[in-house]
Amino acid sequence: MKDTHKHKGMRNQLADVLVVKGIADKNVLDAIRTIPRHLFLDSGFEDHAYQDKAFPIGAEQTISQPYTVAFQTELLQIKPNDKILEIGTGSGYQTAVLLHLKAKVYTIERQQELFKKTKLFFTKMNYRPKKVVFGDGYKGMPEEAPFDGIIVTAGAPKVPKALMSQLKVGGKLVIPVGVDSQTMTLFTRKSEKEFEKQELGAFRFVPLLENKN
Ligand code: SAH
Repeated sequence: MKDTHKHKGMRNQLADVLVVKGIADKNVLDAIRTIPRHLFLDSGFEDHAYQDKAFPIGAEQTISQPYTVAFQTELLQIKPNDKILEIGTGSGYQTAVLLHLKAKVYTIERQQELFKKTKLFFTKMNYRPKKVVFGDGYKGMPEEAPFDGIIVTAGAPKVPKALMSQLKVGGKLVIPVGVDSQTMTLFTRKSEKEFEKQELGAFRFVPLLENKN
């Protein structure tokens, strides 16, 4: 598959849709206008890649809806060189958005099939996250902590304590919390012990699964 003018035009339209839905961050919108989302999907979905919808990516997982990606990313208020941990690499689209904002990205995926496929895809596309790890996102990445931001891209039945503890003071955790439907929740670490919590609306994600082993 190639990236063409037609795709670029569709991306611009998608960004306009996101503006109407309330996304205001220029850098996030620029990421949406730039990243070839159709290349993150199987070719059967190519024609739909620039609709504001989630799509299957195999292994019962989905690429998040562009609005959701933009909304979560905006909440992180990323500055260049910020260290960001992503839980749920999936197709890698959210990772590419974080990289476009010049973040240093560490990403974890627990589905081996997707992990392998997406890791290869990053190499092919010349996307360069600092680390792509196969593992359980509930544990975070203690060896690389602390992070300026942590983004969870699957629905968490509870907030993993490890993720809270791996935030810098001033850092932000964006996590959809809930079982059937999720409340987008933003935690800002105010001090070693204090976290500010904001709830920012209802979303629907595939579940954040805890490893049984
Ligand atoms: N950011 C992805 C969204 C993929 S959907 C994208 O833009 O495409 C959520 C992903 O979280 C799935 O790939 C799923 O396998 C993964 N996931 C679920 N539980 C997880 C866990 N405990 N640790 C890491 N990844 C997990």
